Amino acid sequence: MYDVVVIGGGPSGSTAAEELVRSGHKVALLDRDGRIKPCGGAVPPRLITDFNIPDEQVVARINTARMISPTQRQVDIPIENGYVGMVDREHFDEYLRVRATEAGADRFTGTFTKIERDADGTHVIYRDKASGEKKRLTTKLIIGADGARSNVAKAEVPGGDKIPYVIAYHEIIEAPDPTESYDPKRCDVIYDGTISPDFYGWVFPHGKSASVGMGTGIDGVDLKKATAELRVASGLEHCKTIRREGAPIPLKPMDKWDNGRDVVLAGDAAGVVAPSSGEGIYYAMVGGQVAAAAASACLTTGRARDLQLARKLFMREHKQVFRVLGAMQNAYYRSDERRERFVSLCHDVDVQRLTFEAYMNKKLVKARPMAHLKIGIKNLAHLTRLVSETRV
Ligand SMILES: Cc1cc2nc3c(=O)[nH]c(=O)nc-3n(C[C@H](O)[C@H](O)[C@H](O)COP(=O)(O)OP(=O)(O)OC[C@H]3O[C@@H](n4cnc5c(N)ncnc54)[C@H](O)[C@@H]3O)c2cc1C
Repeated sequence: MYDVVVIGGGPSGSTAAEELVRSGHKVALLDRDGRIKPCGGAVPPRLITDFNIPDEQVVARINTARMISPTQRQVDIPIENGYVGMVDREHFDEYLRVRATEAGADRFTGTFTKIERDADGTHVIYRDKASGEKKRLTTKLIIGADGARSNVAKAEVPGGDKIPYVIAYHEIIEAPDPTESYDPKRCDVIYDGTISPDFYGWVFPHGKSASVGMGTGIDGVDLKKATAELRVASGLEHCKTIRREGAPIPLKPMDKWDNGRDVVLAGDAAGVVAPSSGEGIYYAMVGGQVAAAAASACLTTGRARDLQLARKLFMREHKQVFRVLGAMQNAYYRSDERRERFVSLCHDVDVQRLTFEAYMNKKLVKARPMAHLKIGIKNLAHLTRLVSETRV
């Protein structure tokens, strides 16, 4: 009998498993393994320090973000007081799984199929990868951390089958030598309706490789064609392609993360990815932490309602940033005209500081009320077209 079976060994599941064993619980970590998670791999410094990520996992350190508008206007934002880290999910996820196992979690490799309950308890049924046999793990609680389109969420939590998504697609290419257009220490974020009509495109350097891709929630958009065009526009069309892959990015945290009984969700499975940026790794790891805290509380008190703590703890800390980012996406990702205005807004040093401090430290800084006021007025002016475009 396990205290907790964690289904899914991505950043959220491995973090949850590690936290739980470190607080003295008997934990199983089940992952199907065998597929590298498609991901740009950009992580904020707060993740690296909060979760003790060793230097060797950070394959590139980015010091500039370049915003590119539909008319090819470029705004370079220097990343002050730190860097944006890049991790390769092939190694990063395995590192986290091994860390959870070394802390004391039992690791199982196989595909979760369903949850059964009887007088002996709750059983996680899975197909073992090595033998192909159907097996089961008996447990008191379950953490569903099986990613976007989570089968645990669909089966157990109301709304789990209705999470809205964008589909993101990227190509991992061999990084070229540095040129005018490719800098291994610079992330390019492309706001252009021909690349993505409702999200954005990106070029993220990863040392020897780079991720080039885009996302959209609109049916019928040809993601491969858009990425091919992005590669041409970025001068990367001749680089060797290592992998082509896509996956959904959830757009909205679910209203409920637990089933009121014995299951709580974490990370993408709970729909938790930052609006505007699609950033999910940091929030998945925090999701793992709060799911572990909720499971631990529930195991101690025996009260199923303590599973609600996961969402409460998360929202207390991050609701405000999610709200601001959601409003930004609604306001600026709708048309090329608005994207142009958004990139124009990025010229403002206060906007740069505020957005990047929010990204780096996961907090909206309150220190400069005049800057907030100025940005508020500028935002309004941009949206109501009171500010005319100034070209650089
Ligand atoms: C193309 C793309 C680019 C992205 N770029 C970034 C970025 O640059 N920065 C960023 O922060 N975020 C990015 N994201 C989002 C980020 O990848 C996710 O938010 C993050 O991986 C969520 O972590 P997770 O642990 O919740 O889920 P996942 O990482 O999806 O992990 C889920 C785990 O569950 C396992 N699993 C699934 N189903 C089963 C099953 N039935 N049985 C057993 N195991 C199962 C999988 O093997 C996997 O290991 C990107 C996403 C995409 C698609």
